[in-house]
Amino acid sequence: MSGGEGYQELTEDEGIDGDCPEKCFLCCLDSVRFGYSGSTGPNYWGSLSPNFTLCSKGINQSPIDIVKDEAIYNPQLEPLERDYTATNATTVDNVFNIVLRYNDTAETVKKYKLKQLHWHSPSEHTINGERFAMELHMVHFTEDGNITVVAILYRYGKPDPFLFQIKEQLAELHAKGCKAEKGDALPVGVVDMTELKQGGDRYYRYVGSLSAPPCTENVIWNFLAEVREMSKEQAADLMAPLEGSYRHNSRPLQPLNGRMVQLYDKSPKIRKVM
Ligand SMILES: [Zn+2]
Repeated sequence: MSGGEGYQELTEDEGIDGDCPEKCFLCCLDSVRFGYSGSTGPNYWGSLSPNFTLCSKGINQSPIDIVKDEAIYNPQLEPLERDYTATNATTVDNVFNIVLRYNDTAETVKKYKLKQLHWHSPSEHTINGERFAMELHMVHFTEDGNITVVAILYRYGKPDPFLFQIKEQLAELHAKGCKAEKGDALPVGVVDMTELKQGGDRYYRYVGSLSAPPCTENVIWNFLAEVREMSKEQAADLMAPLEGSYRHNSRPLQPLNGRMVQLYDKSPKIRKVM
């Protein structure tokens, strides 16, 4: 399956079995629990904690709709070179998403270090209004706390080779289910990053925020222009360890408030230039 198929919600008969019992809601990491629906949903994040006020008061928030024709080609941008090497990682069920955490990494986007990557279902960002099945966030930090995210959108289709590497760990997280202490780390071993290094020759960039509390701003977002594919089974595997309400972990679109989306293209056609 490929081409124009947009986002469809995963349903239980497509590989995800029943929810954790309600008691599992007690086993969260932090004292403040945010969610994606109801009284802890995105509309209320800003009032759940004094640390979350940017979620309601911030003006440069994420996610956004990326309108291709309004993106400004910026010849000053550089290819998104990422010097990831194969590295040890652990998978963690963070309650609200599944994280692949890197411990001792030397990988960089320039001075940025990859700390973790995680997935959202369905996609948080849209392109020309189109929402996709999944969205991967690769979160990088500098020593002094600056954040940049490299994001990849996925539609359902052929399997994603990268995810084969953590298939067993995802199954184990799911099997542990509610018995697992949330936040327990499962070693994955060495993860080959080759797949995720590719595709930096064309990307969109804008300045936004973390798309989950505390909604920290001044996050540099880099979206690979090429939408990738993963199988429905892989998407189900990624969301299965999460409690039911977190299998839809996508924040609604935020206003652009005059922000500009830039485009880098290694082989540019004629476009609007900065
Ligand atoms: Zn994210």
